[in-house]
Amino acid sequence: MKPKFTIEKAKTDRSKCKVCNGSIKKEDIRFGSQVVVAKSKSGGEDHTGYLWKHVYEISKRECAKILYLYNSFQLNPGMEKLSVKEKDEIAEILGNIRSGEPLTSANHKPLPENTAYIIEKAKSGRASCGECKQKIEKGTLRFGATGGKLNSTLWRHLKEVTKKQMQNAKWLYGELHHIPGLSTFPEKERMSLVSDITEILLSESPKKKSKLKVDAISAKHDDDTEILEDMDENQVVAENKLQTGD
Ligand SMILES: [Zn+2]
Ligand SMILES: [Zn+2]
Repeated sequence: MKPKFTIEKAKTDRSKCKVCNGSIKKEDIRFGSQVVVAKSKSGGEDHTGYLWKHVYEISKRECAKILYLYNSFQLNPGMEKLSVKEKDEIAEILGNIRSGEPLTSANHKPLPENTAYIIEKAKSGRASCGECKQKIEKGTLRFGATGGKLNSTLWRHLKEVTKKQMQNAKWLYGELHHIPGLSTFPEKERMSLVSDITEILLSESPKKKSKLKVDAISAKHDDDTEILEDMDENQVVAENKLQTGD
């Protein structure tokens, strides 16, 4: 009997993702949930097939089901054929999806209408990072935020993106992997990028968070940056007070 869920490398280019509607390329890691395909019209017997989606598009609910059925993500059928590294990466992504707080418009202030984000490799070495003020070298991963009154794009090194920006991006695009630019990366790179930015989104280490925020505030920001980053200065002050306690 075929398992209810499978996580595996796509054997062909032919399957389609039922979440993003994109095609799943051969070797991309996909998640399948079994469905019964009725054959009443042709007179044959019902048989089972799989509905596919990119593995990083698994829902929180499916994560819970996987854990219920197989006890751990690593034990999901099909995973045994993947490398240890791939298994670890997938388990991490699923763990993050499982623990991620859904962001709804109810707990999110609206962003300026023209807000847009992009993740890409720098096309030139001309832009400076809004965070560390260094030039962003050509080919380096960068995060662009467009919007506000000037409607210009502010860049920063991807590794310096704040939790707040990731929350905004998730809110804007629904899922982190839908951030523009990501679809141009090869599957492996995209998976590890999504895993990295998911980590930023879920980061809770007060030290790291506080450092990021203090750095961001010590730098001088114009109005546009304020809108896009939506810093809460009172919160930072409160956190710094807490920090002096240890
Ligand atoms: Zn997809
Ligand atoms: Zn930087």
